[in-house]
Amino acid sequence: MSGTRLVITGHVFTQSCTPVAGALLDFWQANNAGVYDNSGYRLRGHQFTDPMGAYSLETIVPGEYPGRTAHIHVKVRAPEKPVLTTQLYFPGEGRNQQDSIFNAALLMDVHDISAGKAATFTFVLDVP
Ligand code: FE
Repeated sequence: MSGTRLVITGHVFTQSCTPVAGALLDFWQANNAGVYDNSGYRLRGHQFTDPMGAYSLETIVPGEYPGRTAHIHVKVRAPEKPVLTTQLYFPGEGRNQQDSIFNAALLMDVHDISAGKAATFTFVLDVP
C-alpha cells in the first residue's frame, strides 16, 4: 500500500490513571488518496490493549478528502463499558482550522522517524 508509514502507540487509562487492560480499539481511516475502502475494508481493524493498557497500530498517514482535514477514526471501549467514538488528528495540518469538527484535544504527538512517522496518543475514558 502506498503512503507514509505511521505507527501510533499509547495507552488507555481511566480517569484515576489506572491502565485499562483489554480495552477495544477499533480504528478506520482513508488511504493516502483520501478514499475509504467500503467493500474490502482495508485500513479498518481492531485490537485490544495489553495488561499495561498499551496499544500499537501500524498504518499509513491518511489523505484528506473534501471537507475534512487528515484524521483517523477510532472507537474505544473499556470492557463492559460504553463505546467512545472519536477521531485523532495531526498537528500542523493546514486544514485543521477549516474543519468544523476538528478538536485540538485530539491532536496526536507526531514525529518523523526514518521509516515514516511515529505518533502517540493517550486515551482517558470516563470510567472510574
Ligand atoms: Fe473520515
